[in-house]
Amino acid sequence: MRRAIYPGSFDPITNGHLDILSRALRIFDEVVLAVARNENKAPLFTQEERVALNLAAIRDLPGHERVRVGCFHGLLVDYALTEQAATIIRGLRAVSDFEFELQLALMNRKLRSDIDTIFLMPKDNYTYLSSSLVKEIARLGGDVADFVPPCAQQALQTKLRQPRP
Ligand code: ADP
Repeated sequence: MRRAIYPGSFDPITNGHLDILSRALRIFDEVVLAVARNENKAPLFTQEERVALNLAAIRDLPGHERVRVGCFHGLLVDYALTEQAATIIRGLRAVSDFEFELQLALMNRKLRSDIDTIFLMPKDNYTYLSSSLVKEIARLGGDVADFVPPCAQQALQTKLRQPRP
């Protein structure tokens, strides 16, 4: 059983995340889609909302029965261990992602030498896509239908209509 963990903020999940997840499912038997609490990023959606969105987003994804949606706070490597996942999946969009991702991967390896990170590249038209940009477009009233699954589009509309606490 080859199990990988794909961690992220997923605030919200985008088609780029889903593209990486689909690629990971071609390589691994099971993928844990792990939502980080990430309070220092001041997420728009709560961790519970992001988990629910991820569950809804993968419903129609081929291979979704091999995906488990989880959540964690604390060290990713500790969570990977409890999930018995020896591989971390991360996405690389452009060279600009590389420096931070390399640092993260090497630090995780320092913390747990038996856990490796593999990087997957998305389809080229998702290389400019990020959750932050999608939130900015939605906030400014733009159409994000091409960038996120319908559940996330709906959630963005609802959330951005509410005043933030
Ligand atoms: P984090 O806060 O951990 O970076 P994100 O949800 O922003 O969480 O991203 C999770 C992972 O998915 C990261 O490795 C990021 O590079 C990757 N990712 C995000 N958007 C895309 C995309 N459009 N294409 C490919 N990978 C992506």
